[in-house]
Amino acid sequence: MGFKFQGVDFVHLDATFSEDELLVRRTARDFIEDNVIPIIEECYRTERFPRELVPVMGELGFFGATIDGYGCAGMSNVEYGLVMQEMERGDSGLRSFVSVQSALCMYPIYTFGSDEQKNTWLPAMASGEKLGCFGLTEPGFGSNPGGMTTVARKSGDEYILNGEKMWITSGSIADIAIVWAKVEDEDNKVRGFLVETDRPGFRAYEVHGKWSLRASVTSGLSLQDVHVPSSNLLPGTGGLKSPLMCLNQARYGISWGAIGAAMSCYDTALQYAKARKQFHNQPIASHQLVQDKLVWMVTEISKAQLLSLQVGRLKDAGTVGHQHISMAKRNNVWMALECARISRDILGANGITEDYPIMRHMMNLESVKTYEGTHDIHSLILGQHITGHGAY
Ligand SMILES: Cc1cc2nc3c(=O)[nH]c(=O)nc-3n(C[C@H](O)[C@H](O)[C@H](O)COP(=O)(O)OP(=O)(O)OC[C@H]3O[C@@H](n4cnc5c(N)ncnc54)[C@H](O)[C@@H]3O)c2cc1C
Repeated sequence: MGFKFQGVDFVHLDATFSEDELLVRRTARDFIEDNVIPIIEECYRTERFPRELVPVMGELGFFGATIDGYGCAGMSNVEYGLVMQEMERGDSGLRSFVSVQSALCMYPIYTFGSDEQKNTWLPAMASGEKLGCFGLTEPGFGSNPGGMTTVARKSGDEYILNGEKMWITSGSIADIAIVWAKVEDEDNKVRGFLVETDRPGFRAYEVHGKWSLRASVTSGLSLQDVHVPSSNLLPGTGGLKSPLMCLNQARYGISWGAIGAAMSCYDTALQYAKARKQFHNQPIASHQLVQDKLVWMVTEISKAQLLSLQVGRLKDAGTVGHQHISMAKRNNVWMALECARISRDILGANGITEDYPIMRHMMNLESVKTYEGTHDIHSLILGQHITGHGAY
């Protein structure tokens, strides 16, 4: 059966964390241990998002955690990263929910919104009373969102939106959708709109049959002649750069989250390998090949921790580049997926069951590898940065 999580700190990073950073991590770890671990396998099996945990997470300051004011916790980026690590140690679906609420919805309202928009939405979203979703991807445009066909047309004091969005996390439970659309009267410039989900012409439908992120709500959005007042335009948005700035925030959190999933898999495999005996009544941890696998994992996790911590410190210092975040997202999700596969292997047949978290993490991480810029798109972002040549 499952083991109690021991944490992974091979290179003594805990000694470099401040008291506040350690406190935030402990709070998030306890939340996961007490509230998520006992129910997550049932949620996953039944395709249920544990919505009852939203107010608790709001109370703990997990939403919009790096924002100052508006009822938000004002955490540093490293503290926020540690929260995301613990969230995904629980489940990538839960971390996805927090990422979307915080980095993809509250961040754009805070960064691009009017005072009225901020005052209306941020406090209610910080407490979890109101939920958001981020509609960028379309059925025909994923890696290349610039091709989007969703349009907004100005009509008097309103905009009228038409289009389809796909693969939208929290789409059918959201109160507010941040919809990215080309504005016809502005030379098709991409801009962001706040669309209340009870507006006529707006429909959200849940995507079922996923084998990944089953404890997270994923939806399609349909907008047919949805009228919003001009005051629902996010005034600071202008061009594709605006949604990409949001994605950068989310990708940063994902780089930490993936470490959490990897830590869960490695920790499970290590404890299992010490307990499971095969050949000469010896624990499988005593076999050289198994040791090699465990060593690979703890080394890669340690490297990923160092990378995300440094990127977080750069972010806190205001000197981070999008290329640093791309490297961390690309590397850490790949690393976590490899850890999940290796850990599953170490658990043998037991590894395929829900008695252990590994297979769930593995299936989740397949989505994490794809969303927020696929692994290969991040290769192209990094390739362009170091060579100066775009290769899309
Ligand atoms: C569970 C889940 C939740 C999601 N949540 C959201 C959300 O909340 N909001 C949102 O807007 N979107 C969301 N997404 C969508 C996600 O961002 C897209 O799936 C992602 O951008 C990839 O797009 P795609 O699936 O259309 O794949 P494609 O863009 O069709 O890519 C398919 C493959 O082609 C490769 N490829 C594409 N272009 C190139 C190129 N130029 N060179 C080399 N290879 C290339 C890709 O790397 C990939 O391997 C979510 C997706 C999932 C699975």
